[in-house]
Amino acid sequence: MQKTAVDVLISGGGVAGLAAAAAFGAAGYSVICVDPAPPVTSGDAPGADLRTTAFLQPSIPVLQAAGLWARLEPHAMPLQVMRIVDAGGVEPVARVVHDFDASDVSAQPFGWNLPNWLLRREFVARLDELPTVDFRPGVATKRLLTRDREALVWLSDGSSVTARLVVAADGRHSPVRKALGIGVKTTRYGQKALAFAVTHPDPHNNVSTEVHRSGGPFTLVPLPDHQGKPCSAVVWMETGPEVDRLKSLSREDFAQAMNERSAGLFGWLEQASALTVWPIITQQAERMIGQRTALMAEAAHVVPPIGAQGLNMSLGDLTALIDLANPETLGEPGPLDAYQRRRWPEVALRLAGVDALNRASMIEARPLRDARAATLNALYSLAPVRKGLMQLGIGMR
Ligand SMILES: Cc1cc2nc3c(=O)[nH]c(=O)nc-3n(C[C@H](O)[C@H](O)[C@H](O)COP(=O)(O)OP(=O)(O)OC[C@H]3O[C@@H](n4cnc5c(N)ncnc54)[C@H](O)[C@@H]3O)c2cc1C
Repeated sequence: MQKTAVDVLISGGGVAGLAAAAAFGAAGYSVICVDPAPPVTSGDAPGADLRTTAFLQPSIPVLQAAGLWARLEPHAMPLQVMRIVDAGGVEPVARVVHDFDASDVSAQPFGWNLPNWLLRREFVARLDELPTVDFRPGVATKRLLTRDREALVWLSDGSSVTARLVVAADGRHSPVRKALGIGVKTTRYGQKALAFAVTHPDPHNNVSTEVHRSGGPFTLVPLPDHQGKPCSAVVWMETGPEVDRLKSLSREDFAQAMNERSAGLFGWLEQASALTVWPIITQQAERMIGQRTALMAEAAHVVPPIGAQGLNMSLGDLTALIDLANPETLGEPGPLDAYQRRRWPEVALRLAGVDALNRASMIEARPLRDARAATLNALYSLAPVRKGLMQLGIGMR
């Protein structure tokens, strides 16, 4: 049986695992990254991830250091304004509209939006450039045994690897987390999200818009033009049965429902991609470390897609892992404990914030929806509170 020794074994080659492989590889560590599902790197291919990711400001330095940002920037759509719309009245029309402008808190945009399939394409291309990284698509982590000095990982192709550090980036059902016996706390909302792209007649002017009525937010995030028309990525959250109903509608009926729910913003929306469905939960691992192991991304935390927190928290994990890594002490208890102290409370705080926002957005009862609109008005009218919320949302504090 073939056995290889590396500095870092990354279990999972989703967006987070690929970014981690590039970051550790660019920092000079030897890396093996495994994933049973080869990445889909074209938007038209079956199984393509049609979600988009809005990278917030604090996520950029780790992508730059990994040599990823230079590849992404030409395709990225800057997000200058975050618009919150309450359409919770009797009719589904915008009754409260507030703009949170990045220029109030920074000389830069809030973030930059990119399709997930394109992230995979560029991340895989970057790994090809790095002699330190051995990316093995089609190979799964099968078994893990950790000791004081190293971790031993058995892979599905019959080979095995000894690593000084194992990074678990293998998703919300993380096999590495399970092998370590680390539990999770999961909150279910009975909600799902539809993710797809739309074109529209009115330009988006780099405004990311969340429309709240009931069931969850309807979010439009700017993308580059598609076939000469302004284009946005949509995440539409509703109760599970409602998403199933929407998904089964004819294209015409779906267009009608989507345009009603978008409150007419940006004009008549035309569906410009397939629909994909994502279950919505909040989940946090009881701890983010085990012997010789760090959990990151959805292996450690899952949030509803509100405020672009999910992958940005994952890049916060990666930033901490890279900051704390040292060739002398890689994978030892000191840096792993520091990682746990730095990330777990921060993640818990963000999960609680997104959970509260999601519950507010789901509200059905009219009086509560009216109270929600009043709260939004009150928060917005206090400039220091407004700026503080923006900084918190971006992750600037
Ligand atoms: C609708 C929607 C919109 C979103 N929008 C945003 C946004 O705008 N901004 C943002 O920051 N976040 C956003 N998120 C969150 C973001 O998409 C996720 O955080 C991110 O995609 C998860 O990445 P991941 O790599 O942790 O997990 P995954 O993509 O699930 O990757 C895990 C990988 O592990 C692999 N794996 C499984 N088993 C094994 C094994 N045995 N061995 C090795 N590998 C294994 C899987 O094949 C998979 O490729 C959104 C989420 C949703 C649902």
